[in-house]
Amino acid sequence: MMIDRQARKLLFETVAQRVIASADELTDLDRAIGDGDHGTNMRRGFEAVLAEVDELSAKNLGASLKGVGTTLVMKVGGASGPLYGTLFMSLGKSLSDEVSREQVTEAFAAAIDAVKARGKSDVGQKTMLDVLFPVLDVLRDGGAGLPLRLKATARLAADKTIPMRAIRGRASFLGERSVGHMDPGARSSALIVEAIADVMEGIA
Ligand code: ADP
Ligand code: MG
Repeated sequence: MMIDRQARKLLFETVAQRVIASADELTDLDRAIGDGDHGTNMRRGFEAVLAEVDELSAKNLGASLKGVGTTLVMKVGGASGPLYGTLFMSLGKSLSDEVSREQVTEAFAAAIDAVKARGKSDVGQKTMLDVLFPVLDVLRDGGAGLPLRLKATARLAADKTIPMRAIRGRASFLGERSVGHMDPGARSSALIVEAIADVMEGIA
């Protein structure tokens, strides 16, 4: 598929608007097992993306994704800023405007590895990785109704962080008390995946 300037703009705007619209929910989740700033962190970052969306999407897909990542690193802050920044910057490394699902899968796998390295974290530790990993599996399988399955997987994966005990990030300081709450970063990752899937489906 071809991800041209217009598609890039729609993609970045949709993701940014969804995250911004859910900032209060993200903050509430972070208040339960963190320091209550995930929503404001993410809103600040994606408001900056929105403010420069024309300049960002004017560049080719790789460069524009790197640009989004750089903005997130600079503006989000907290633990999630460098991690989301790494995710987008790494995605931008190998993708050109004309991409196949296989190429996106490969780039996404590399980006997740980069997040793991940056966060010294892995799946099963109640973080954003617990959404990103299952989404990667679905993307790799491909097939009919992919956007719908990506959304369902992301939502379910975020729900599955509720009974987990946090091993990484601020929530890990709570030990057993982190059980019973959804991880805020898992929820923001699900929101981002849902937004991208909606754009894929053409309903955003
Ligand atoms: P902070 O924890 O510094 O306040 P945020 O509240 O913005 O930063 O982000 C918290 C989220 O970041 C967590 O819910 C979790 O998903 C993610 N996170 C934190 N540390 C890590 C890590 N080492 N690896 C992966 N994700 C992490
Ligand atoms: Mg926080």
